Amino acid sequence: MSKRSEGPLGSSIGQLLRLPPGPVDLSAIDTNGKPGFEDGKAEGKKALAALGAELAELQERLFAQAYTGASRQRLLLVLQGMDTSGKGGILSHTAGLLDVSGLALKSFKKPTEEELAHDFLWRIERALPAPGEIGIFDRSHYEDVLVVKVHGLAEPDEIERRYTAINVFERKLTDTGTTLVKCMLHVSADEQRKRFLARLDDPTKQWKFKPGDVDERGHWAEYQAAYETALERCNPENAPWYVVPSDRKWYRNWAIAQLLLEHLRALDLQWPTPDYDVAEQRARLGSA
Ligand code: AMP
Ligand code: MG
Repeated sequence: MSKRSEGPLGSSIGQLLRLPPGPVDLSAIDTNGKPGFEDGKAEGKKALAALGAELAELQERLFAQAYTGASRQRLLLVLQGMDTSGKGGILSHTAGLLDVSGLALKSFKKPTEEELAHDFLWRIERALPAPGEIGIFDRSHYEDVLVVKVHGLAEPDEIERRYTAINVFERKLTDTGTTLVKCMLHVSADEQRKRFLARLDDPTKQWKFKPGDVDERGHWAEYQAAYETALERCNPENAPWYVVPSDRKWYRNWAIAQLLLEHLRALDLQWPTPDYDVAEQRARLGSA
């Protein structure tokens, strides 16, 4: 096992970023903070790279356990956040440290007609990681109580029902060997404006921008309120939320990698022991 890397302050990122149970006030959480990291951007980028070896080894152990039938554990990282908060950035920077063969990535868009004909969890269940895999959801079932609530795309009764349905669904996942790591990438309205302007200024980024993004931005306060409700109602001990300050991209990328690492370490993943006699198999291969 490679050297264990703690946050430079030695504290667990999980503890620092865990959203406490109870009412949520997002405006009280600093979007520009960097809990658990003392230094600046250059060190942050180095610290992220330094997590790669251990992350990759633990991912392979997870995969090996499922491959040999030793366990059916899996991990699902759920990314939620306002536009530009960096859900895509995590996919390239943090997920880039992992082995693609054990990764299951899924971006949830506006539901198709077929998806709308089913319960909101139908498309989610189909996209869950298999045993041994690390799944990453860019948006998730939470959209069904966020954008859907802000735009009244479902009846209030139905939205109300969904908070409980999500808790029941997530309980089932964690009871059957899925580690859930739910991250809200928390950006300020001002930072979002800067990031949209940066997209408009850069011909290589203009494709990421849609005029409709500015309309959505007009609903900022309603989105924050919908997030606060969702985070409060769906934040049990078995499937807690982490609020990741995301105005600094390098901090966000590091913090999520560190969170993943802490959750993988907690699984106490061992290399599977062979179900054959190693000496016997070596003997069968004969001498050179
Ligand atoms: P992007 O992540 O920028 O590619 O955009 C995906 C879009 O799909 C966003 O505008 C989301 O609000 C929208 N979306 C995702 N899930 C849902 C959902 N369940 N209902 C309605 N819109 C959704
Ligand atoms: Mg977008």
